[in-house]
Amino acid sequence: MSRTILRGRVLSFERAPDGIDDVGSYLYLEDGAVSIEDGVITAVGDFAAAIKADAVVIDHRPNLIMAGFIDMHLHYVQSQMMASYAGSLLEWLNTYTFVEEQKFAQQGHADAVAVDFYDALIRHGTTTAVAYCSSHPRSVDAFFAEAQRRNMLMVGGKVMMDRNAPEDLLDTAQSSYDDTKALIARWHKRGRGLYAISPRFAITSTPEQMEMAQALVAEHGDCHVQTHLSENDAEITYSMELYPDAPDYTGIYESYGLLTERTLLGHSIHLNHRETAAIANAGAVAVFCPTSNLFLGSGLFDRDRMLKHGVRVGLATDIGAGTSFSMLKTIDEAYKVLQLRGQRFNPLASFHLATRGNAEALGLADTIGSVAPGRAADLIVLDARATPTMRMRMATVETLVEELFLLQTLGDDRAIAEVYVAGARAKSTLGGL
Ligand SMILES: [Zn+2]
Repeated sequence: MSRTILRGRVLSFERAPDGIDDVGSYLYLEDGAVSIEDGVITAVGDFAAAIKADAVVIDHRPNLIMAGFIDMHLHYVQSQMMASYAGSLLEWLNTYTFVEEQKFAQQGHADAVAVDFYDALIRHGTTTAVAYCSSHPRSVDAFFAEAQRRNMLMVGGKVMMDRNAPEDLLDTAQSSYDDTKALIARWHKRGRGLYAISPRFAITSTPEQMEMAQALVAEHGDCHVQTHLSENDAEITYSMELYPDAPDYTGIYESYGLLTERTLLGHSIHLNHRETAAIANAGAVAVFCPTSNLFLGSGLFDRDRMLKHGVRVGLATDIGAGTSFSMLKTIDEAYKVLQLRGQRFNPLASFHLATRGNAEALGLADTIGSVAPGRAADLIVLDARATPTMRMRMATVETLVEELFLLQTLGDDRAIAEVYVAGARAKSTLGGL
C-alpha cells in the first residue's frame, strides 16, 4: 500500500468562525504534512513530526493545502450556455435553457459535455458538486458514469418537469417517478455517487408530479432533494397562480413533503417571515448563488436574516446562469452582494462555507470538507501568487486572513495549483492545460 505525504501550509476549518479573529475555528500549520493512504487522509500534523518512512513526499510549499471546494447547486447540462444574453430568469429559461437541454436526448452529447464539465470542475478546484441533469435519464447516466471514472463524490439527479416547457423536454408524472426510481437503483451509493430527487421548480411540475416527488422522498429518505425557490418576482407570481391554495412559494413544496433536512433550495432570495421559519424548522438548506443572482438581476440574498432565523446556508455557482465555475469568484461575488446588503462576510467565513460549511449543509462533513484523518483526500493547493497582479499584492500581505481575501478577490482557476481527488493528482494530469 503506498503512502503519500503532501507538504505545505495546511488550513482546515473545524467549525463556522464567529468572526475574523476566531483562530479557534480552524487548524493552520505553517509547515504541515497531510498523510494519505488509499484515497483517505490518515494523519495531519507538523511535517517535522510526520512519519516519512515508505512515504512519497510531494512538496507544495509555499502554497496552501485546503479541502476541495464544494458547489451546492449547478446544472451540468448548461455548461455550454453560460454567458447567454437575457433579461431575467423566465426569458433566459425559455430562450436558451430549454433549447440547450433538449440536446441531452443524445447520449453522445451528454457523454461529451460530462467530460468537459468535470474537466472544468477540476481546473477550478471543485471536488464535489450537486448537479441538476436534464429530464433525460441518459444525461444522468453520463453524469454519474464520468464521476465514477474520476472517483469523484458527486450528487445529482434527473430534473422532473411535466409542464411549461417544450414537449421534447417534458416527462410525465408517472415517467418521472419511474425514471427517478430506476436511476436511484442504478447510481445512488454506487461508487461515490449520491442521488438527488430533483423536481425542477413549481412552475414546471403539475400537482400530480409533486405527489410523485413526495412519494420518492418518502421512499428514499437517504437521497437529497433539490429544487429552486423564490429566485425572481415573476417566477414567484406565476408559481402562486399555479398553486393558488398555497400560502406562499415555500408552502407549495412544504405541502408535498419536500422540505426536509436533505433539501437544497436554490436561491431562496425573496422569502417572507413564515417561509423563513418553515425552512428553518425543516432544517432545509437555502443555497446562495451570487454570480447567477447578479447575472439575471434576481435579487440580493439576505444571509444575515437566514442565519438569524436558524436557516442552514450553502453556497453555489448555479452554472449556467452563474458566470464562473470558480468558487473563488463565487465567494468574491457573494462578498459584494452582502456588501450591498450592508452585511459583513469575512474571508474565514467564506472559505469555511465553500468547504466544511457546504459539507455540513450536505450532511457529509464526516466524509469531505476538511483536512482531517478519516476524510477523503479531496484536496486543493492554492497559489496566492498565481498571476502578476496577485504576486504584486502578495508582497504586502502579512496574515493568513489577508491572503485568503486576496485569493477570493483576485483569484480564479489559475490560483488552483493542484487538485487531489481521493488522493490522486487530478489537475496536473488533465490534458490540454
Ligand atoms: Zn439552478
